[in-house]
Amino acid sequence: MPDVFNWQLGRTMSYPRAEARPQKQAGAVFDTNKCIACQTCTVACKTCWTSGRGQEYMLWNNVETKPWGSYPLAWDVRVLDQLGPQTWDGDVYQGKTIFEAAPPGKTHAGFLPTDLDFAYPNRGEDEVNDAMTSESYELKLPHDIWFFYLPRICNHCTYPGCLQACPRTSIYKRQEDGIVLVDQERCRGYRVCFEGCPYKKIMYNHTTRISEKCVLCFPAVEQGILPRCMRNCIGKIRTFGFVSPPDKAREDNPVDFLVHVRKVALPLFPQFGTEPNIYYIPPIHVSSTAFLTMMFGPGAPAAIETYQKAMQGDDPELLAVLLLNVATDRIVSRFELAGDQVLGFADDGEEVARVPIKEPTMVRPEFDPDLTVYRYNVT
Ligand code: SF4
Ligand code: SF4
Repeated sequence: MPDVFNWQLGRTMSYPRAEARPQKQAGAVFDTNKCIACQTCTVACKTCWTSGRGQEYMLWNNVETKPWGSYPLAWDVRVLDQLGPQTWDGDVYQGKTIFEAAPPGKTHAGFLPTDLDFAYPNRGEDEVNDAMTSESYELKLPHDIWFFYLPRICNHCTYPGCLQACPRTSIYKRQEDGIVLVDQERCRGYRVCFEGCPYKKIMYNHTTRISEKCVLCFPAVEQGILPRCMRNCIGKIRTFGFVSPPDKAREDNPVDFLVHVRKVALPLFPQFGTEPNIYYIPPIHVSSTAFLTMMFGPGAPAAIETYQKAMQGDDPELLAVLLLNVATDRIVSRFELAGDQVLGFADDGEEVARVPIKEPTMVRPEFDPDLTVYRYNVT
């Protein structure tokens, strides 16, 4: 297998194909601190893309509750179990990726989920990590008792496990935006991709007997519009755009700023080795650093500290970028601070969003002499 560089692991790794980065890479940042599991994203995607026959069970976008939720069943722990020890030396991963842990005769470690594994998408919903005790009622950060929501879509990986697994080269990564697609004419439904994707985000249509996956709403993205799941996000947790490799990061690109400049957004299970392009701001209320490091890599504690500073008002630039989330249907490729506002610009330079960094507040006098009444300021 050729050696390719995976910056999320801080080292080269074995991958069955040569390194071929696209001209641009579509990517996103999801802020887990703001997700309310309303599932609007799930329904927006479902009604748009998977309402046909054979697609009944499919959720290209799903939201699961961690630590116990999973769709399909135990997708993450079953792959993690096959990797062996997953230690880091600073920012350099010392363990094996799914490609390096491949059993003889295979190019990847992995498993093939069954239909039943997809049958309970809300398994573990709102279940906390531990039993409640009288001590754990105390309110503090991080919490002893916790759970958090994890929205998931295909990661449009730089080194896709699905793509390298396909024996008919039916899966391809677009040069112009890095979106990973299945050629529906070529696919014969062998489902090796199903096994090769560690995130289990490629799915099998039992009616057409071919594989399908999230297309990242490429017809919208081509017109500078956000994908459905992003533009409908009620919690405004999603920043969509294009992510650069670290050496080409642009400070005024919202996604690059969150991933590379502030390093507040981290990949999901970077140890899988696919270099996923959906990033997550880890939850600040989770008491287990080991759990967060397992999920988001060794940068999790520093990311939480950076995020907390912004929420306390010590990093207005970071706060400004987060406030641009879903402020417009258009893809924001550049941001700029202008006084107490943040401006977002599309690729062609047009201003598409203007958001106040601090909402103006008005405190009314407690006593209204005209009406001779006392007022309560409740907001
Ligand atoms: S729409 Fe946004 S807030 Fe609601 S579940 Fe999806 S990601 Fe979370
Ligand atoms: S998340 Fe899975 S389906 Fe999506 S590109 Fe990566 S390996 Fe392929």
